[in-house]
Amino acid sequence: MKQCDYCAKEISYHEMYCCDECQKKTIDFYDLRDKYSKVFSIFNGIFVLSIGIGIFAYSFLPTFGAFLIAVSLLVLSVLYFLFPFPPEIMIHKRKLEKSIKFCRIVSLVLFILGILATVFAIFTIFM
Ligand SMILES: [Zn+2]
Repeated sequence: MKQCDYCAKEISYHEMYCCDECQKKTIDFYDLRDKYSKVFSIFNGIFVLSIGIGIFAYSFLPTFGAFLIAVSLLVLSVLYFLFPFPPEIMIHKRKLEKSIKFCRIVSLVLFILGILATVFAIFTIFM
């Protein structure tokens, strides 16, 4: 059975989407991705790398390392919230709506971790 490219509802073989709204949301998504995928990749690369640097720096500069990790997590959280661009393989398997939701959940988890890391970083000042 064929599924709607956006919400994964079952549809007939001559359709692409179950409704106009799904079609519009899909077009909006690909427009956003076309416009911002480069910006997204650059920021994603920089802040994933800076988490690594933060973990490395933590052993000799705990406060700096912890703050760097915290800031990076928070920036990535905002980035994934504004630009929920799931990997192509996920879009193919789960369709667009679920994949975007997954990115939002990742964003929320990163936000919570970022807050915890901030609290921990403040704590390291007094250690
Ligand atoms: Zn649909």
